[in-house]
Amino acid sequence: MAESTHPRDVSTGRLAPDQLASNFADAYPPLSDHAAVVEASRCYFCYDAPCLNACPTQIDIPLFIRQIAAGNNLGAAETILQQNVMGGMCARVCPTETLCEEACVRVASEGKPVKIGLLQRHATDALFEDGRQVFARAAPTGKTVAVVGAGPAGLACAHRLAVLGHDVTMFDARPKGGGLNEYGIAAYKAVDDFAQRELAYILEIGGIQLETGKALGRDMQLADLRRDYDAVFLGMGLAGVNALGVEGEDLDGALDAVDYIADLRQARDLSSLPVGRRVVVVGGGMTAVDIAVQSKLLGAEDVTIVYRRGPDRMNASVVEQEHAQTAGVQIKHWLAPKRVLGGPEGVTGIELEYTRTGSNGQLEGTGETRTLAADVVFKAIGQTLGANGALTADETAIALEGGRIRVDAARATSLPGVWAGGDCIAGGEDLTVAAVEDGKQAALSIHTHLLSA
Ligand SMILES: Cc1cc2nc3c(=O)[nH]c(=O)nc-3n(C[C@H](O)[C@H](O)[C@H](O)COP(=O)(O)OP(=O)(O)OC[C@H]3O[C@@H](n4cnc5c(N)ncnc54)[C@H](O)[C@@H]3O)c2cc1C
Ligand code: SF4
Repeated sequence: MAESTHPRDVSTGRLAPDQLASNFADAYPPLSDHAAVVEASRCYFCYDAPCLNACPTQIDIPLFIRQIAAGNNLGAAETILQQNVMGGMCARVCPTETLCEEACVRVASEGKPVKIGLLQRHATDALFEDGRQVFARAAPTGKTVAVVGAGPAGLACAHRLAVLGHDVTMFDARPKGGGLNEYGIAAYKAVDDFAQRELAYILEIGGIQLETGKALGRDMQLADLRRDYDAVFLGMGLAGVNALGVEGEDLDGALDAVDYIADLRQARDLSSLPVGRRVVVVGGGMTAVDIAVQSKLLGAEDVTIVYRRGPDRMNASVVEQEHAQTAGVQIKHWLAPKRVLGGPEGVTGIELEYTRTGSNGQLEGTGETRTLAADVVFKAIGQTLGANGALTADETAIALEGGRIRVDAARATSLPGVWAGGDCIAGGEDLTVAAVEDGKQAALSIHTHLLSA
């Protein structure tokens, strides 16, 4: 067993409840009506707008901004939701700095894009406050579709199918629908139970039955779904976790970041969560930044992200990296985990090896090591498809690619009658907005298939 470096310090209630409440309040407060109209007036309403083309769901951005400028917030929301039924959540979580706002022509002219994300939130918030339902169902088609996974991909697919008149049954392994919107997105990005409010809005149109606590591969098999429904959509995300593959990673206190974030999102009382004084996060993506920032907000004293390559190779955007640093998180590059240190009492540190790019372009260890003291080590090095068994059984084998489900442009899998989308498909971008677009495209393809059947 690896040796200890210091006594562990993990405890609950590191911060007073009012401090915790303020730390986890809305990170990007909404625009006032006046500020929204002023911001909307900055838009040039470009012809062939680059922002629209940069949006994975192709929201007509200049149109909705023009509607806001004219004071028509509900019309703007309808423009958004027709293309992206999760426009409310996407307004909160999209990395707009690498999507629509990066493409905005105002960046070239003055270095500051129109605040498209905040304007989108302004419009969709107004609609949610108003309570108006903008969708109506088409006449029933008598066709049934099974959707596995009630995350953004599954919900977007189910919603579009229901609007088109089909009857959908959704199955989700967890106790609540919403997927990572409910269990993964950083708490300060989706306050006031927004994921559940959006879910309720989506289900309100009718025609979608949500069955929670039902897992594909455990409670039913793909063959059952193919037999009992006219089509199947798989949107089960990535339920498996990548291991570090080093000694000590099973020690108490070496935790999966996504699991901890799920606990955090479901905690009624944040002061009940055990928090380490020194926290090391291994990884370089959005999950690594989210767990690091939230650890800091929970009262951890020293939080360090260690990433095995340079800053330019991190999956977390520059804005996210800056957010982490502003929150007091240190980011150390060119360090790979070698051993998690500790003993029967749990994690006390991590031994890391310096890395470099070798002459063949591959990452290699330099042989030089260093140790960081840690009470908790979070693993945030990516997830894997967790339901391989259910997808590769003989009679229902689905082709995989790089460990994820292979699909064509219409999101059809290799198995007739089965579509897939979101994080579980090969080539997915691991973004909420991309999952929504996959679900929407799959629904349109399923609709064409069902009408021709
Ligand atoms: C910590 C974290 C933070 C993130 N932050 C952001 C962000 O700020 N912005 C952003 O755009 N993206 C973010 N993402 C990515 C984003 O959340 C995902 O890309 C998106 O949720 C994918 O949607 P999905 O529907 O494919 O999968 P999921 O949201 O994972 O939903 C899959 C659903 O399937 C269910 N399921 C799994 N297996 C089974 C089974 N066998 N049977 C039945 N149901 C099953 C799960 O319970 C889950 O509800 C983040 C991801 C993580 C992990
Ligand atoms: S690119 Fe910018 S200025 Fe042009 S339409 Fe989009 S938001 Fe408006």
